[in-house]
Amino acid sequence: MAWQAIGEDLYDVDDEKLAEIQRRLTQDNNMEDVYEIFARSSKKIVLSMKEMDAILPKMTKLFFGEESEFDLKSLSQLKEEKASSVIYDIYNEAFNNAVKHLNDAVSVINDEQGIFESYISDRIQMKDKDALRFFIDSLLNKLKRMTSILDGDNNENIILLIKNKSKAETVMQPEAINKDTIFGLTSIGDPLDRMFINTAIVPEDLNPSNNNFQTFQDREKYINLATGTMLHEAVHAIGLPEDYIYLNVEDTGGFVSIEQSLAQIKYAIENNFMEKEHFNYLCHLYFLSNPVYKDLSLESLMKPSNLKRLFQLDDYFKGVLLINNPDTVSQIISDIAKNNELFRRGDGAP
Ligand SMILES: [Zn+2]
Repeated sequence: MAWQAIGEDLYDVDDEKLAEIQRRLTQDNNMEDVYEIFARSSKKIVLSMKEMDAILPKMTKLFFGEESEFDLKSLSQLKEEKASSVIYDIYNEAFNNAVKHLNDAVSVINDEQGIFESYISDRIQMKDKDALRFFIDSLLNKLKRMTSILDGDNNENIILLIKNKSKAETVMQPEAINKDTIFGLTSIGDPLDRMFINTAIVPEDLNPSNNNFQTFQDREKYINLATGTMLHEAVHAIGLPEDYIYLNVEDTGGFVSIEQSLAQIKYAIENNFMEKEHFNYLCHLYFLSNPVYKDLSLESLMKPSNLKRLFQLDDYFKGVLLINNPDTVSQIISDIAKNNELFRRGDGAP
C-alpha cells in the first residue's frame, strides 16, 4: 500500500483535479489494493473459550450494566422455559425475519443478478462497471459468511439480555431509547459467534393479546428493530468490528429508503458527523491504496467537503464505505429481500 508518492509534489483537490480523478477512475488502474479493502474482514481472529469467558462479563457490564440486573438466555433456552413469551415471540420472529432476509438476499444476488445490479446502479448510483462488479462479488461473499451466524437451524448463538424484573431501574422507558442505546453486541473473536441482544427496549406492559392497532404497530416496531439489530450484529461477527455511521430508521423500526440513507451519509461526511476515528482510518487506507490518488495531498483529500464530493463521484470510495459499514449492509439486505418479495408476488409479470 504505497501508492502515495513520497518526496514528490502533491496537489490539492480542486475542481480540475476532481475532473481528473473522474477520468482516471475510468482508465485501467491497478485496483488490487482497493479490492482488498472491499474484501476486508476475511481474516477473523478467533479467541479461545477461556479468553472469551474472561472478556465477556466485562463487555456486558460496560455496555449493558451489572450482571445482577439482567439474565442472559439463548433463544432456544427461552423457548423451552416458555416463561417470557412476549419477549420470546418478538425476538424469535425477528430472528426468523433476519434469516429469511439474508437468505433471500443471497439467492437474489446469485440467481437474479439483473434485479440486484439495477438496485446498485439505479438506487445506490454506483455506475462504474468494475466497481459495481467488485462490490457485488465481495458483498455476496460476506453475506454467505453471515449465513453461518444467522442459521435457521441453530439459534443457540442468539443470546437475549432480559432485564431482571426485581430491578425496576433497569426497565427502559420508551423515551430513553435514542441513538446511543446499545441494541446488540458481538465480539469478533468469539469462537461461538454469539450475539447479545438487548431486549430492554420492549416495554414491560406490551401485551399482544390487547387486540388493538396501536399494540399491533408497537409489536411490529420492536420486531423490525430487532431484525435490524441481528443483521447488524451478524455483519460485525464476520469480522467487521467498526461502525462508520448509524442509519436513521422509520417510526416503524424499519430502515428509511436507501436514497435517504445516502443523503444522510453525504450530510454526515460534509458536516463531520461520521464516527471520526474509524472513518478517517478507512479513508486513509483507501486513498493510499488507490493509485488514482497518488499525487494528491492526503490533507486536502481529507477535507470534509472534498470527501463528500468524492463519495459522489468515486464509486470505489462509495463502495468501500458502504460494504464495511454494518448498518448499510443490513439495509441492503432488507431492501433486496423486500424487492424480492414484491417481484415474486408479481408472479411472472415483467
Ligand atoms: Zn455496530
